[in-house]
Amino acid sequence: MRNRFSLPKLGYSYNALEPYIDPQTMEIHHSKHHQAYVNNLNKAVAGTPMESMSLEDLLVVAERRGAAVRNNGGGHYNHALFWNIMSAEPDKSPNGKLEDEIKKTFTSVDSLKKLLNNGALTRFGSGWVWLYVTPAKKLAVCSSPNQDNPIMDASKENRGIPILGIDVWEHAYYLKFQNKRGDYLNTIWNVIDWDAVNTNYENALKNPLLKTIEMDAWIALKDFHSVMAQTFHPMEEGNYGPIRARASEMSLKAQMLASSPVPSSFQSKDITKAIKNLVEGSAKLEKLVKKKSKDDKLKESLTKLHDTFHIIQGLCSNEH
Ligand code: MN
Repeated sequence: MRNRFSLPKLGYSYNALEPYIDPQTMEIHHSKHHQAYVNNLNKAVAGTPMESMSLEDLLVVAERRGAAVRNNGGGHYNHALFWNIMSAEPDKSPNGKLEDEIKKTFTSVDSLKKLLNNGALTRFGSGWVWLYVTPAKKLAVCSSPNQDNPIMDASKENRGIPILGIDVWEHAYYLKFQNKRGDYLNTIWNVIDWDAVNTNYENALKNPLLKTIEMDAWIALKDFHSVMAQTFHPMEEGNYGPIRARASEMSLKAQMLASSPVPSSFQSKDITKAIKNLVEGSAKLEKLVKKKSKDDKLKESLTKLHDTFHIIQGLCSNEH
């Protein structure tokens, strides 16, 4: 499967955003820069299991997929979003639910714009500034370096789905504004289409990706998962070395999971109970290992623990 990803067509011509953005910048930015991200992303996924994954699935764990996917997958996603929220005939202000939420969170649209411009101005070097929807369905602002964005694991505490992004790489403004990033930022609001941002907001609220991000951002769950995966799967193939070596680590990770803050949308009786069972079950398993119990005892105990763990993961991914 060659060329999994392709350059999206613009909904307007290269000169449509004049006098705010010049046609030469638009043409180079779209047909050269964005095209290069697409080409390099295709190269990075070709012949790997990533070839059949969605762009969002690539980005959620971009940091763990390596620099080529992170930089070029981010570059492709970010620019596609950027072209989409600009228009020659933009809606100049948000409305409806998005407007209410902006006022609730930032007091006014103007203070939100100031916050975004300030994030963009203070971003050292190349990057983006974002308005995004958090897993708790709130609005938030952050900036990120290079081609990172809030979907990515690399974004740490600022995670969610971006609904508005401004490119502050020099390639976005240098021909017309040279080094004057502030002038570019003041100008660009003339072509930002709040109708498109509204649509992005509505779509983000419904997107199951928010749940995936929330689960991925629950570090204690992720830590437990990695010990489970690296001990359970070898055991299934008859290798008991990993679980004998790591049973006390697993027990510790279960205790850390139990003391970590549970993300809002995971708070339920079933999950609380499953976490408690993980703590007790992994303490029992640790004892079995210390007593040098036979393989079939360990198998029974670890299999039960694995089922309990998947109650949490299963409940997480099925609940929307
Ligand atoms: Mn760019």
